[in-house]
Amino acid sequence: MGEHILMVGAGLSGAVAGRALAEAGYRVTVADARPHVAGNCHTERCPETGVMVHVYGPHIFHTDDAEVWDYVNRFETFMPYRHQVRTTVGGRVHAMPINLLTINQFFGRAMRPQEARAFIADQAEAGPEDPRNFEEQALRLMGRALYEAFFRGYTEKQWGCAATDLPAAILSRLPMRFNYDDNYFFHRFQGMPNGGYTAMVERILDHPDIALDLGRTVTPAEAGAHDHVFWSGPLDAWFGHDAGRLGYRTLDFERFTATGDWQGCAVMNWPDADVPHTRITEHKHFAPWETHTESVLYREYSRACGPDDIPYYPIRLAQEKALLAEYVARARAEAGVTFMGRLGTYRYLDMDVTIREALDTARAFLAARAQGSAMPAFTVNPL
Ligand code: UDP
Repeated sequence: MGEHILMVGAGLSGAVAGRALAEAGYRVTVADARPHVAGNCHTERCPETGVMVHVYGPHIFHTDDAEVWDYVNRFETFMPYRHQVRTTVGGRVHAMPINLLTINQFFGRAMRPQEARAFIADQAEAGPEDPRNFEEQALRLMGRALYEAFFRGYTEKQWGCAATDLPAAILSRLPMRFNYDDNYFFHRFQGMPNGGYTAMVERILDHPDIALDLGRTVTPAEAGAHDHVFWSGPLDAWFGHDAGRLGYRTLDFERFTATGDWQGCAVMNWPDADVPHTRITEHKHFAPWETHTESVLYREYSRACGPDDIPYYPIRLAQEKALLAEYVARARAEAGVTFMGRLGTYRYLDMDVTIREALDTARAFLAARAQGSAMPAFTVNPL
């Protein structure tokens, strides 16, 4: 009888690592507290409208990693999809990320790229050489007017704190362009799974040596009875949150339906500080190859995550970092468990990075077993 591996979490991390180990000859159980696989990228077709709904909010697949792109295409057909986002600021609609059209429309100008560069450089506030927070970074990059209009309100609603308290790195998720390219992402590969993410994850998990255990919370004590555990649940949950809770933002979705095309695009951001939601998503636009008369929309609100809420975004402010360091040190002292994924390593991860890390973690495990060495608690540094 071979070793029995437990994956806690049937999201991308658990499914991808579980599959790799099953293919290498291990017996794998993949467990999840929720009754479905795919974690927060779970999709479900709405029976009334026929629209494929991104149940826990929008997920768009984009990557530069050719191996990861080949991997997802092995399990699902990816349809061409180009993510475009609009934003309503003070009653006017603009294009995101900030590009030449946004700049020209916002300032009522008709600048060419070089003129716009010089204009924005003029707007930009010098600030410290090494920006210490989100606001300083934004002011250096785009100046106060664009920052206040497009970023400040959205960011403070999304993260529930002052932009001066947030790390500068969050802003680097978004480019600023001096041409008319309004593609939200700049990656080589971009697409949407034809049958949704859940169909893809179900296929990844469809292996004779993978057993699913859904709709039940696995305790760390129970997990520890296996030959090795891969834990993609919250890192602090492994320790029963005994040193305190790592902070997350959760999302509330106000679902509504409409006939026809309600907003004309997949995502409309609402950065104004006096509008309570951050964005509205119209799900049928995530599947432009499908035709639907009816429409399903989510008005999205962000708030602090309580103990019974679904965690979405790790906050990673100074106080969380100190607590994280404590849990990471304790995790490193544990044997027989490896932490992975967004919750297990407490990082803001895109889907492609999650898959890359899950493949690498499975490989690290196989190499450790081949050499008879110990499998570490982390294959990335969460700090
Ligand atoms: N952001 C913003 N205004 C926008 C879009 C994004 O201020 O219109 C900021 C906000 O702080 C957000 C971050 O940029 O958390 C990253 O945005 P992204 O669209 O990558 O967020 P996600 O889709 O992952 O929620």
